[in-house]
Amino acid sequence: MAPVQRMSTTMLKTLRDDPADAETASHKLLVRAGYVRRTSAGVWTWLPMGKKVLENVSRVVREEMDAIGGQEVLLPALLPKEPYETSGRWEEYGDLLFRLKDRKGAEYLLGPTHEEIFTLTVKDQCTSYKDLPVMLYQIQTKYRDEARPRSGVLRGREFQMKDSYSFDTTDEGLAESYRLHREAYTRIFERLGLDYRVVSAVSGAMGGSASEEFLAPAAAGEDTFVDCPACDYAANTEAVTVVVAPADPTGHGPVEELDTPDTPTIESLAELLGVPASATLKNLLVKIDGEITAVGVPGDREVDLGKLGEHLAPAVVELVTAEDFAGRPDLVRGYVGPQGLKLRYLADPRVAPGTSWVTGANKPDTHARNVVCGRDFEVDQYLDVVVVEQGDPCPRCGAGLEIGRAIEIGHIFQLGRKYADAFGLDVLGPQGKPVRVTMGSYGIGVSRAVAALAEQTHDASGLCWPREVAPADVHIVAAGKAVQIELALEIAEKLGAAGVRVLVDDRAGVSPGVKFTDAELIGVPTILVVGRGAADGVVELKDRRTGEREELAVTEAVERLT
Ligand code: ATP
Ligand code: MG
Ligand code: MG
Ligand code: MG
Repeated sequence: MAPVQRMSTTMLKTLRDDPADAETASHKLLVRAGYVRRTSAGVWTWLPMGKKVLENVSRVVREEMDAIGGQEVLLPALLPKEPYETSGRWEEYGDLLFRLKDRKGAEYLLGPTHEEIFTLTVKDQCTSYKDLPVMLYQIQTKYRDEARPRSGVLRGREFQMKDSYSFDTTDEGLAESYRLHREAYTRIFERLGLDYRVVSAVSGAMGGSASEEFLAPAAAGEDTFVDCPACDYAANTEAVTVVVAPADPTGHGPVEELDTPDTPTIESLAELLGVPASATLKNLLVKIDGEITAVGVPGDREVDLGKLGEHLAPAVVELVTAEDFAGRPDLVRGYVGPQGLKLRYLADPRVAPGTSWVTGANKPDTHARNVVCGRDFEVDQYLDVVVVEQGDPCPRCGAGLEIGRAIEIGHIFQLGRKYADAFGLDVLGPQGKPVRVTMGSYGIGVSRAVAALAEQTHDASGLCWPREVAPADVHIVAAGKAVQIELALEIAEKLGAAGVRVLVDDRAGVSPGVKFTDAELIGVPTILVVGRGAADGVVELKDRRTGEREELAVTEAVERLT
């Protein structure tokens, strides 16, 4: 038994025009079809139809999490500052955190992810090795003050995430919890009808499979991944743009410090670097009139030699030398040679292991993002930075790699003992001695998955939902005459009684053309038209995806759909 949803009483306003600021298909269509409504930048309201789709995604996630033994909980989104100070993330997260104070001045944050609080919860609830393993999950609202909230619900500042955490006493236990999650995720994304790839999210140089991402290929995605057509190698370029190359496989030769001319000018500098005087260089350290003004510290600052030449014509531009680094631990040192940029990281207290970094790359106009200290380089180490391109050899089998854009829909991670160490999470072991717990954390972007589905499945006429997530199974369009509406409601009741989820367009005074257009836009998988044939008990069934139509007697149509 499924309740029949009548459009005449549903709050659902479709729009003919795309929202002005929308660039991606999911953003345009979810707004136009009346699924979501923008409340403020990156903050969205889920309208009745949208909430149904969101709920369907949540249901699938919940069923598969329960199937691997996950226990659902609900932690607060409003979190005290202290645990995040203990883990270091109060600082590390920087501007991404929404921070607030209560009336007494105590500091809080809105949770971007919940490792800290889950660790504390388990520390409180589990005391013996017999209490483990434990797998906890929640489907909850997360907050991240993203620098560029865009693409509608694809990247929100408030969004729905399923996050789960596993707690084990042994490394083997953690590996098993991770494996269970990986399988559950595979089932979830298959059931949702998403096309996806599982890719390595950590540098190949580190080895292991400590972290993998589930990517949904789509042009609107913000992630780039490489995929080997010949073997099963696939990785996020966040993990492979940077290749630590101690043996210098790029053939650039040894790193050399450049000689600084005595009285350098823009021209002499450009000549020295082997680039045109109009070139734009990144991560180049220069002194202008003795001041280090454009430096390759993390960030996106760049030196436009042409502009420098125009605006600072009389200025003396020189390369920074070793002495300039003395007492300046904030500087990251770069060398530009004819073949490209070489980087050297000096001992910098801010470059703590695990810190994510932006560096130059040995290609013009490129930056390598997310190089991680300790993973891709050591402090005070030279490295070659290699940007992977289409056709580059696969590190596993040598075949030409393919590069694609994708949406990160899930991320699984073997955390190990990082948080257990920070919070002293031990349980009493079999020998009566405390054992440090090892953890995994696993996320799915539940609201993002709705947008990813819209991206992958839409067509020129609108949304096109896979049945599992669709807001209804059948969309009945009653052309407009009273008898047609009557028959449509009759069919709707019959289908509803049989458990079929029905949306029926019973609006009076709306033209059939508008109703058909709306049905295509809304994207329910089967459209049943009650039109001219109604008097003879004949209706039309249309498959939203393939466009195939068929005329049937009412009884036959009902039979077919139940
Ligand atoms: P991204 O690289 O897109 O910023 P992330 O790596 O920061 O994502 P995680 O911390 O791994 O995200 O969070 C787990 C999951 O939550 C992601 O795989 C993604 O599906 C989802 N997610 C993350 N940020 C957002 C967001 N701003 N809006 C919607 N979903 C998000
Ligand atoms: Mg992010
Ligand atoms: Mg990511
Ligand atoms: Mg991630």
